[in-house]
Amino acid sequence: MLNVIKEFRKNALEVRLVGTIEEDTDLAQLIGDFPGELHVNSKEVSRLSSHGVRHWIRYFRGLQERGVHVKHVACSSTIMQQVSFISNFIEDLSSIESVCVPYLCQRCRGQFVSVVKVKQLIKLKAQVPPMSCPKCGVGTARFDDIELEYFSFLNKLQTR
Ligand SMILES: [Zn+2]
Repeated sequence: MLNVIKEFRKNALEVRLVGTIEEDTDLAQLIGDFPGELHVNSKEVSRLSSHGVRHWIRYFRGLQERGVHVKHVACSSTIMQQVSFISNFIEDLSSIESVCVPYLCQRCRGQFVSVVKVKQLIKLKAQVPPMSCPKCGVGTARFDDIELEYFSFLNKLQTR
């Protein structure tokens, strides 16, 4: 089940996708028509089924063919997994503006995400620094995934 929270801006529609993208998810219907650009926040997309992946690719390819400018913000870990495994999941990688970076606290084992801009990731050479844990307030939290895999899209971005 996917909820789409929409906000119309001057030249763009901003949508926040919340939930799962599955066989019966109709992105075109849920997002609807809009003038100008589309900004997609997928921070709260927790799962995509294999059908969902196909729906996603078809929907965004359709937008690209119509020349719609799309910007992806706060791509969730689920979305980033697809980006690293499926080469055309987000066809134009430069449309990714920011991603959710998963953290794990070394002390309380609390998990949280931090949204980091792609520009910043390039500057950091994909080495995201440790953060103090917002959950226990005392622990140090570190990136909780495989950097080479999670940030592999950066290499594709720079070599193009
Ligand atoms: Zn903690």
